[in-house]
Amino acid sequence: MNKKYDLIIVGAGPAGIFTAIELTRSNLPLKILLLEKGQEIDERTSLISGWGGAGAFSDGKLTLSPEIGGYLRDFRGLEEALDLIHYVDQIYLEFGAPSTVYGTNEDELNTLSRKAALASLRFIPSRIRHLGTDNCKSILRGFRDFLKEKVEIRTGVQVSKIITENGRAKGVETADGEVIESDFLVVAPGREGAAWWVEECRRLNLTMARNPVDVGVRVEVPAAVLEPLTSVSFEAKLEYFSKSFDDRVRTFCMCPYGVVAMESSEGIITVNGHSYANKKTENSNFAILVSTRFTDPFKEPITYGRYIARLANLLGGTVIVQRLGDLESGRRSTKDRIAHGIVSPTLKDATPGDLSFVLPYRYLTDILEMIKAIDFLAPGLASRHTLLYGVEVKFYSSRPKLNAVLETEVQNLFNIGDGAGVSRGLIQASASGVVAAREIARRVSQKEG
Ligand SMILES: Cc1cc2nc3c(=O)[nH]c(=O)nc-3n(C[C@H](O)[C@H](O)[C@H](O)COP(=O)(O)OP(=O)(O)OC[C@H]3O[C@@H](n4cnc5c(N)ncnc54)[C@H](O)[C@@H]3O)c2cc1C
Repeated sequence: MNKKYDLIIVGAGPAGIFTAIELTRSNLPLKILLLEKGQEIDERTSLISGWGGAGAFSDGKLTLSPEIGGYLRDFRGLEEALDLIHYVDQIYLEFGAPSTVYGTNEDELNTLSRKAALASLRFIPSRIRHLGTDNCKSILRGFRDFLKEKVEIRTGVQVSKIITENGRAKGVETADGEVIESDFLVVAPGREGAAWWVEECRRLNLTMARNPVDVGVRVEVPAAVLEPLTSVSFEAKLEYFSKSFDDRVRTFCMCPYGVVAMESSEGIITVNGHSYANKKTENSNFAILVSTRFTDPFKEPITYGRYIARLANLLGGTVIVQRLGDLESGRRSTKDRIAHGIVSPTLKDATPGDLSFVLPYRYLTDILEMIKAIDFLAPGLASRHTLLYGVEVKFYSSRPKLNAVLETEVQNLFNIGDGAGVSRGLIQASASGVVAAREIARRVSQKEG
């Protein structure tokens, strides 16, 4: 075995970087090794791999609400999740993040929250700090410069195996066959390493948590209809529990003045949406998704979601579009019916059809209920001209069972960030690194004391 470290961190995305930052701030004399399979920040070409992880080339919206971008509150409780978000946000500020925060007009937010409650909806305000692409890169360079004297950083090194002994973390083996020992391991593999990590979890016999699957439609309306929401919040998040099934239904990815788009993965075409900074359409769109957490004996939520998407493709050849009025009248939409509607579809290639042949009754009922509820906040949404595209499906990374400090069933082996299914954004990924780091510092201090 090679020289021994106190800690090896796998992955230099925000989760791994913040683990290192937090531990170096603890002033404990720890030997830390940070391994990243991608390249240095100024040499990398991959969108999701390299110093800074998946967010390096993004325009960096830091979501400062604990209910968005991850599940830290499930592990640490709401109050601590808020503290952690504030804490990492301050670090981003120290390293050059701009001071402006969007979505802070309390009066407007409160009015919208009250109105939402009247319609049985929960409005989740999202405060956002917008880094911008240039800032993103320079902040990530700042993190690297801060860490490079205190932590050994090796880029271009892929970890292929986690080594354990007697139920305890022992080290890693790299793709080149190098074996490196450490007392603690923090695995932060992000999307890039998600498939590898699931395989490793299986090999290590870790219990996997069963993930939900989100299935729904993308809704498109004239931009004016969504203005009451989009003018108040950078991204209006609404949650609803359906009367008929008590299912959790939510809005996702609101795209003011945007376009509806297709997404193709492994031969299945689903729907999505974007907004461009410099190009505005006359429409706005967003998704309505129904979350289902399946119970025993069913273990294949991803296959189920893909099956529904495949059904839409089977009937329509691609994504299906239908006017809400046609769906409610029990008839399919046709090219003519869409053409004389008042919403001109931004996705021209969708096939006019009938979503009731695709979506199970339960999902359709949930979606229609929620449209009616949102119509109270955004009058016109429940118009018969509103377009529904199907289907939109969101999958979650498989994740191993973790305790409250994000440790797996293997002692001293922590799993954090998006690859652990703990976060879905920069801020909570970073905060999850702080959680693991604080626990490691506590254990080390306890041992030394
Ligand atoms: C285009 C784009 C735009 C985005 N915009 C935003 C945004 O505006 N706001 C927001 O909050 N979020 C955004 N995100 C999401 C955000 O980037 C992620 O939530 C965040 O980066 C997750 O952090 P992480 O550290 O968990 O994983 P990642 O950032 O994915 O980092 C994981 C790192 O681990 C490395 N790795 C994986 N496996 C191994 C291995 N076996 N050995 C060594 N290294 C390994 C990978 O190369 C990668 O660099 C965006 C993502 C993308 C792709």
